[in-house]
Amino acid sequence: MRRTVFLTLLAFLLAIHPFDALPSKELPIRVGVFSGNGASASSLQNALEALRVDPEIRAVKISAADIAAGGLEGLDVMVFPGGGGGRQRTDLGDKGAELVRSFVLEKGKGAVGLCAGAYLLSDTPGYACLHLCPLKAIDREHDERGHGLISFKPTAEGLEFFPELRGWGDGHTYYYEGPILVPVGDGPASCTVLATMESDVHLENDAPAGMTPGRPVFARAEAGRGRVFLSAGHPEATPGLRWMVARAVRWVAHREAVPYTAAVVRPGLHGQDILFDKALRDEEASLFQALMYGESQAKIAAIRRLAAMGSWDGPLWIRGFVRSSDAPTRVCAARTLVELEWTAGIPDIEAAVRTESDSGIRADLALCLARLKAMTPAAGERGGPGGRREVAVTVDDLPLVNAGTDDPAARTAMVRQLAGAFQADHIPVTAFVVGRNTRSPGGEDLLKVWMDAGVELGNHTGTHTSLHQMSLEAYEADILAEDGPLRALMASKGQVPKYFRHPMLQAGRDQATKRAVPAFLADHGYAVAPVTMDNSEWIFAKAYAETLNRGDKAAAAKVRAAYIPYMESQFDYWERQSQQLLGYEVKQILLFHANALNADAIGDLVAMIKRRGYAFITLDEALKDPAYALPDGYLGGGGISWLHRWAMALGGKAAVLPGETACPEWVMKAAGVDSE
Ligand SMILES: [Zn+2]
Repeated sequence: MRRTVFLTLLAFLLAIHPFDALPSKELPIRVGVFSGNGASASSLQNALEALRVDPEIRAVKISAADIAAGGLEGLDVMVFPGGGGGRQRTDLGDKGAELVRSFVLEKGKGAVGLCAGAYLLSDTPGYACLHLCPLKAIDREHDERGHGLISFKPTAEGLEFFPELRGWGDGHTYYYEGPILVPVGDGPASCTVLATMESDVHLENDAPAGMTPGRPVFARAEAGRGRVFLSAGHPEATPGLRWMVARAVRWVAHREAVPYTAAVVRPGLHGQDILFDKALRDEEASLFQALMYGESQAKIAAIRRLAAMGSWDGPLWIRGFVRSSDAPTRVCAARTLVELEWTAGIPDIEAAVRTESDSGIRADLALCLARLKAMTPAAGERGGPGGRREVAVTVDDLPLVNAGTDDPAARTAMVRQLAGAFQADHIPVTAFVVGRNTRSPGGEDLLKVWMDAGVELGNHTGTHTSLHQMSLEAYEADILAEDGPLRALMASKGQVPKYFRHPMLQAGRDQATKRAVPAFLADHGYAVAPVTMDNSEWIFAKAYAETLNRGDKAAAAKVRAAYIPYMESQFDYWERQSQQLLGYEVKQILLFHANALNADAIGDLVAMIKRRGYAFITLDEALKDPAYALPDGYLGGGGISWLHRWAMALGGKAAVLPGETACPEWVMKAAGVDSE
């Protein structure tokens, strides 16, 4: 059954992304975005930001002087942004223009032109351009024909190039007085039109009707030994389509296409044209006035309306309101920047999170920050499907529980097997010690085996009693009961304990307690270690130990066989819950226990995690994910995942994804456990 589900899922993924889903092991694609005269500041910034969706692209600004000084040497692709094509050509100078032509035609490199950049790459007679593509611009006397969100129709070749557009009908891209391109002469075979304009743009300056429909909006061409890609519109400035620029860069760089995160691949985001006729331009101007002089409510309304109308300058105006003195305006501005995929605003929101005094607002802003960062895997942050999956492994109840045996030699062998597997695979692990377990016979020696394998130890209290079963004072005493011995033990390795894990993940049932425990821990040098990938592995482990105790090897084997598929379905669930809540996959923190089941199954467990594309990271590294700043407002009795705590705090119960895999009845029965 699971295999069928897996194969169906695989077929589905391949249908969407007919590429190798694994990041290639090649060098990064080095891209220069032209920043000289004729490159508009906004298109330059938007192009640089759009390329951050691809973790293998490294994009930098490059001026005409840089190019003249040999700057193309270190590049694979040049991107020419919007602004003025003739001005860009003039700033390049004759020598710069020749360098760019030879970069493409002779050195086999790539060039991407966006709007004015497409003018520049075109072969337009009587125009200062680079003659790199068999397309020319016509009706240049009406260049200033208007702007807005226009519809386009992908060609069959376009749907192969951008398979993400399949099934969405017409696309919508920003267009700002871009070129009307037509094939030169009879239309050379080496130019491939990927999409044509549907909208008729003739909004200003007496531009004639009927010029834009059917004209190429996206096209690609072989050019000598190199390749060029032209866009008459501005996908780099269009939320939902910004990834198309990264795809174009990959193609001109002769690199395989890769899929991008669902947070940015949103081809169906815009359902209709939004053309900036006089009425809309007037409305936009009045909204800017409202942002400057309106009351809070008017400002919030203006922010929302500017986003909805697709105002070109909107994000630049909205950005400042993350610094508003009015809290709802701060949150509205940050959320709107996320909707607009305006990753250029990350430093603004970072500063806002740092300086926010209201913890509720800070959580909202932190979530916005996390979502925007997820759109920029190129900056080293998380990326979802296009980026890396990362997980920190944490192991509870050291030195050993549910061993299924009291034999000291067998117990030592078990810990060696488990800890040794981590060490052999260089998997960083933080593991939490229960004092009482340590004081069982041979307990100290087992802990040393853990430490010798390079595992970082943390505090899991002296008696493993739930915070919900005792007073705050008793709980704090129980934390301290394990603090001394742990500190002494770790000192032998020159280490100090940094992390604390709540027994049963039960973290308090009232606000005062929830504040008091972390403060107490901080005073003693500890931070709480949260868990995102919670699971009922402990029930499997109990069932495994019970069956081994009884000597029922067949039953134990059955439990073990069911264990990895169960854990894989848990991974699948928490990945989806994270996507739904955050718009990306958080740096996950996995919890399981030091027991016989994991000692026997660790190889299979690690193989499953690797198969899902995970890299193993330290707990320190995982906690750098901004999601861990989100509030845990949960006051219930359960020991639940932090993903669910955040979901409830931010979006109520509705934000909790249904369908978390239940522990099978027969496993619970074998374990003698009534509920998960
Ligand atoms: Zn525990």
